[in-house]
Amino acid sequence: MRDPRYDILFEPVRIGPVTTRNRFYQVPHCSGMGHRYPAAEQGLRQIKAEGGWGVVSTQETEIHPSSDISPSNQQRLWDERDIGRLQALTEAIHAHGSLAAIQLAHNGIHTANRLSRIAPYGPADMLVDTEDPVQARAMDKSDIRAFRQWHRDAALRAKRAGFDIVYVYAGHDMTLLQHFLLKRYNQRSDEYGGSFENRLRLFREVLADTREAVGDACAVAVRFAVEELLGQDGLTHDGEGRDVIAALADEPDLWDVNLSNWANDSQTARFAQEGFQEPYIAFVKSLTRKPVVGVGRYTSPDAMVRAIRSGILDLVGAARPSIADPFLPQKIEQGRIDDIRECIGCNICTAGDNTAAPMRCTQNPTIGEEARKGWHPEIIAPLPRPASVLIVGGGPAGLEAARALAQRGAEVTIADAARQWGGRVSLEARLPGLATWARVRDWRLGQLRQASNVQMYLDSPLSAQDVLAFGMAHVAIATGAHWRCDGVGRVHRQPLPFLGGANAARVVGVDALLERGAAAVHAALAANHAQGAPTQGPVVVFDDDRYYMASVLAELLARAGLQVHFVTPAPIVAPWSEHTLEQPRIHRRLLELGVHITLLHQLAGWQGDRLDLACVYSGRLQPIACACLVPVTARLPNHGLWQALQAASHSWAEHGIASVERIGDCLAPGIIAAANYAGHAYARSLLSVQVAESACATSYDGYR
Ligand code: ADP
Ligand code: SF4
Repeated sequence: MRDPRYDILFEPVRIGPVTTRNRFYQVPHCSGMGHRYPAAEQGLRQIKAEGGWGVVSTQETEIHPSSDISPSNQQRLWDERDIGRLQALTEAIHAHGSLAAIQLAHNGIHTANRLSRIAPYGPADMLVDTEDPVQARAMDKSDIRAFRQWHRDAALRAKRAGFDIVYVYAGHDMTLLQHFLLKRYNQRSDEYGGSFENRLRLFREVLADTREAVGDACAVAVRFAVEELLGQDGLTHDGEGRDVIAALADEPDLWDVNLSNWANDSQTARFAQEGFQEPYIAFVKSLTRKPVVGVGRYTSPDAMVRAIRSGILDLVGAARPSIADPFLPQKIEQGRIDDIRECIGCNICTAGDNTAAPMRCTQNPTIGEEARKGWHPEIIAPLPRPASVLIVGGGPAGLEAARALAQRGAEVTIADAARQWGGRVSLEARLPGLATWARVRDWRLGQLRQASNVQMYLDSPLSAQDVLAFGMAHVAIATGAHWRCDGVGRVHRQPLPFLGGANAARVVGVDALLERGAAAVHAALAANHAQGAPTQGPVVVFDDDRYYMASVLAELLARAGLQVHFVTPAPIVAPWSEHTLEQPRIHRRLLELGVHITLLHQLAGWQGDRLDLACVYSGRLQPIACACLVPVTARLPNHGLWQALQAASHSWAEHGIASVERIGDCLAPGIIAAANYAGHAYARSLLSVQVAESACATSYDGYR
């Protein structure tokens, strides 16, 4: 049962005219499902309510076609026709005793209105902040009146849809109210520009409009970024951020405070720790009597209690922790702290919205599939009949398959060749900034150790003969993948001959670095040094993978005192990390570590210590010094065991084997979230009547 020291988390809190049953508050967060996949969106929010979040919020909700953020798939409340969809959502949230909140938004210059084709609105004539060749137009007085009316109408529609909390949103560098407030955007000379009070005017008016429209029945919340981390170029928590809270103090029923922009608000574990927003938001409660909610990737109930008892927060806000574990509140309430599936802070979830696709999560494979596939994060139907399953490989795919199959009642045996569980996550969690990634392994091991129907073997490399001898009815091959050393990736589709032959000893693969750290490069340099080469590099990290790995390895090597040169054919460092909101921080960190960066170049030749780069556009050669090369390009599946078992398929029946499947990186190398998902999907589909007995078979019905 619940530890009394967490009782405070379960106290009700009054928010204007409504009361939340506890202090767990799922703040507005995007999902990539929004208005286009309403059933999926509803399933996502409903599961949070079921899991015990006292307040469950929508993502940002466009109030009008002039705030059309296509192709991003947010929520929409343009007119009456949107009410029914949102009413179904609030009813689903209410059914579990939670309050439903809606984040009304007008995106101002943050949208190009690609669908509606309306010229965007802003405080001044200026380019929008997307890359579209589109300018916003300066709003005149009639535009301001119209905007206020749209917001008011949307608030009334939200009330009719059954929402308990209606937001006025001025955050993330994404909304018109914030654009009016910020000096760098607001160059007006009328009563809406110039002085602080003038720039605040529209915000104040819309807050009053919203209260007047719905304040009898709904709480009016303000989501406001108190700090932009731009120094004097932006709003600061000890400057105008503070002034706004002081000026509006008790006008809203709730302050939801955070950092702006989104990349600052949702920093990954690589760059920020749990509770990282506290220094910026701690002042807010001293200026208002109204409840305050804030975020900071809180997954530990002790950290939550501390934030409340120290007078920083009244309500513990969460987006990512509620995605990684929608049942976090219920688990604390039931005294099941070790069962909490803690967010690892990787931001694969934010990549959903940023690629206009339903979100996925590295820790929680069921997120986004609640309605589409009927996957509940805590419940899986038992197997229809007893079954034994052998899982070869204990990385994220194998561990999740084993865990979920044990939950379904299978007799599970899992074996791994290594001396520790976790496969790639155990190796990658040793890299700079990625320690939290071990939670992917640790949560699953914790669950498996509680199960009585699981046998676990480390230090057990299995051959096809071993697998046949086990005689398990079902076999999942989750043997992972290995990194290529031949340069093949996106830009080079064929092996580069100059990375082989005499140069092979100076190529250090990613796997060697994951196993041995910087020592792998030191060893290669030392061997080279015997032939007269320098010992500190330069080491060239060639990144054609374009996500996190190359930059993390560059960081590892630079911190080990090596000279590092980062080369990529991409136009920016680690471009896919834009989707995880990390890209600028990654580039900045490499610069801080003295890593030399060359963009838009591929590899063209390597003679002695001279590596030739070629411009991806002109082909013009640029020689650079290179004592040792780390190619971070692509991976190949470790499918030798699977192939050997296929070759022996004629003898499966005599060994009692009914199926052999590949899952995770062994089938197709990908992100950890994909391996985890594959393991889960395999476990769900085994002997299932709805889905063919194949990990590859997928029902697409829910996507329509
Ligand atoms: P995934 O991401 O798909 O889970 P990983 O690379 O993280 O893949 O994990 C694969 C695991 O499989 C590694 O821990 C590796 O030690 C193990 N493995 C690979 N081949 C064998 C084998 N023949 N027998 C047992 N374990 C194996
Ligand atoms: Fe946390 Fe990563 Fe899941 Fe997002 S994807 S909720 S950051 S574990």
